[in-house]
Amino acid sequence: METHESKNEIDVLVVGAGITGIYQLHRAREAGFTALLVESGSGPGGTWFWNRYPGARFDSESYTYGYLFSKELFDEWEWQEHFAGQPEIERYLNHVVDRFDLRRDMRFDARVTSAVFDERAERWTVALNDSAEYSARFVVAATGVLSVPFFPAVVGREDFRGESLHTGLWPIDGVDMAAKRVAIIGTGSSGVQLVPVIADDVASLTVYQRSPNWCTPLNNAAITAAEQSDLRVNFESIRETLNTSIAGFLHEPNDKSAFDDTAEDRQAFYEVMWNSPGFTKLTSHYKDILFEPTANAEWCEFIATKIRELVDDEETADRLIPKDHRYGEKRPPFVNGYFEAFNNAHVSLVDLSATPITRITEAGIETGSGLEEFDIIVWATGFDFGTGALNRMGIRGREGRALEDHWADGPCTFLGVQTTGFPNLFFPGGPHAAAGNNPRYNGDQVDFITEVLIDARERGNSVIEVDPAAEDEWTGMVDRWARHGSFTEKSYYYGTNVPGKPRRYLLNSGGRPKLFSVIAEVIENEYRVFRPSPPE
Ligand code: NAP
Repeated sequence: METHESKNEIDVLVVGAGITGIYQLHRAREAGFTALLVESGSGPGGTWFWNRYPGARFDSESYTYGYLFSKELFDEWEWQEHFAGQPEIERYLNHVVDRFDLRRDMRFDARVTSAVFDERAERWTVALNDSAEYSARFVVAATGVLSVPFFPAVVGREDFRGESLHTGLWPIDGVDMAAKRVAIIGTGSSGVQLVPVIADDVASLTVYQRSPNWCTPLNNAAITAAEQSDLRVNFESIRETLNTSIAGFLHEPNDKSAFDDTAEDRQAFYEVMWNSPGFTKLTSHYKDILFEPTANAEWCEFIATKIRELVDDEETADRLIPKDHRYGEKRPPFVNGYFEAFNNAHVSLVDLSATPITRITEAGIETGSGLEEFDIIVWATGFDFGTGALNRMGIRGREGRALEDHWADGPCTFLGVQTTGFPNLFFPGGPHAAAGNNPRYNGDQVDFITEVLIDARERGNSVIEVDPAAEDEWTGMVDRWARHGSFTEKSYYYGTNVPGKPRRYLLNSGGRPKLFSVIAEVIENEYRVFRPSPPE
């Protein structure tokens, strides 16, 4: 597309080597664009590079999370477990990068410090932390939704003299926890994965819980030889299902409502759900389980009973049972041995709702009931979800407008891929992107963006900028439909976990069907929505 005056002038600059960015680099190159991917980490993986804490693993089935664009790739990579652990995931992503010879167009340890749109040249000037500068016609910021770790403003956090870690910034060389006194603050999906995996090694483990979550078993297993063979034989139908299913999973939906069954049958079905893998507890549950309050309460009571059975100490069990939200109001974590870990004498639970942290000292954590000393404090306190990375990248659009100002009241987007005033900038896998098995939605967006770029090239358009009316319509849909979903403002999906962040829904509340239908309309209208009108 471009006449290349220097090797720093490219068609497409991709930011982020997560699942989405790697795929975007592949698609852009395949379509004949010159492309470069820059990544702040020292290797590929994105969230699966940074979140290398012990126990980190998929909770979507491995073969539904990986790429589907190449049958050969699918055939040759044998996932070892239905829910792969971080090391295997990282190996897979490195394999993909090498398999498709992508590494030569990737730069690691390269953090974007600013991206400024030059209106005269109709190009982005992108600066990196090492003083390199690139001029790109298009920027695709695949910076992810869970890439900016959140540390709460607890007094004295910097004073701690031991080792202070965040699950989302786990050291590449690992951490020796053997015989150490360890604290974990936070009991979201990350904290509850970490607890059982380190419990046996450490001298003591104290879990600081502000609010418990509705955790149910992941029910992971090794993939048997017969299953491996079925996956290969059925690749085309698996791909078809994943490419069209509502939430990007293979799971069979359930057309029954809870009260279609007798009380006895419901209990039997809850038992089936408890023993079913991962997200089937949402996708294959009674179709009204998230919205029918009595059924939801009954399912919660079923889980509470399980927790009481699994945890020996009654008081601890009771503290592990959520009282402040129904099932599905927040993203539920999936666990393996989490509740059982509290049966170890050296593992304890501090209920921060009763005794909040007053401060961190040089030696440990002080709460209303005194100081406990530690060698390691792990902050499993989550992320500035959705907009965190994009708002920190120094993105400046038309007339120098800062993206973080444009989104001061929360994100407004078209299809979760573009926003007005920031021409030639795309952000697949960001705000308004996914609401299910992320790589499937994000891959849909990458495919779409690639078609938009190809269309612009064919027409000789150098500027792609969404019509404000289309953006208003999409954003209005996201905000309105969010009110009908199961997640509420108690969830970080509304930005609630970060003080001062606008309360605005950050997922695609229309889901994949809405994404597909709007994409189909855009294509039918020959991408007109992306062609700015000439000035009058
Ligand atoms: P999270 O779900 O946001 O959980 C953060 C935890 O930190 C919560 O328990 C929160 O308590 C606590 N916290 C925050 N501020 C605190 C404070 N000031 N004092 C005490 N506790 C505080 O973060 P996460 O566990 O990292 O998970 C984020 C998301 O990453 C997940 O929902 C999931 O989408 C993804 N993830 C996926 C997997 C996987 O299996 N594939 C694994 C890990 C993470 P409150 O609840 O009271 O706010």
